[in-house]
Amino acid sequence: MTIGLSRNAGGPGLGYRDRTPRGRRQDTLMALEELYREVILDHYRNPRNKGHLDAPDASAEGVNPLCGDEIHLELSVEDGVVSGVAIEGQGCSISQSSASMMTEAIKGKTRDEIAELVKRFRTMMAIDEGGDPGLDPGRPGAVLGDVEALQGVRQYPVRIKCASLAWNTLMEALDQE
Ligand code: ZN
Repeated sequence: MTIGLSRNAGGPGLGYRDRTPRGRRQDTLMALEELYREVILDHYRNPRNKGHLDAPDASAEGVNPLCGDEIHLELSVEDGVVSGVAIEGQGCSISQSSASMMTEAIKGKTRDEIAELVKRFRTMMAIDEGGDPGLDPGRPGAVLGDVEALQGVRQYPVRIKCASLAWNTLMEALDQE
């Protein structure tokens, strides 16, 4: 599926656009923001791994009272690997899409790999300083996938709590497993 990364990037006939290098960079940024917005909305409208597991090994509830976001998370863990994950929740598009992206990112991963993902997420959202979120998808170790679409949220401190809710809930569930 193409989701429009190139739709606004330098197409013909858009005479009102600034053609200076600075203007082109602006176009690229806007196209990227639009891509991110579409990825977020897609996860919000079609949440992955929604529902419940038959016999979860761990579960946790997360609430973000500032925004009214709620997440119920269930995990199956086999030989140290997250083999199943299910979420139910309600709230804003940032909290619910982040939860959906998180479920895709952690499935089949070990506890150590998940800890690394959480670290990258927290660095990307500027919750933790230093470190390397590994955002360039072309390089080894870039593992966040769709989760990268949330990076624009860090400009809005209040929404960072929405984006982090699922990840905090995940750590809580893993702690009790
Ligand atoms: Zn929210």
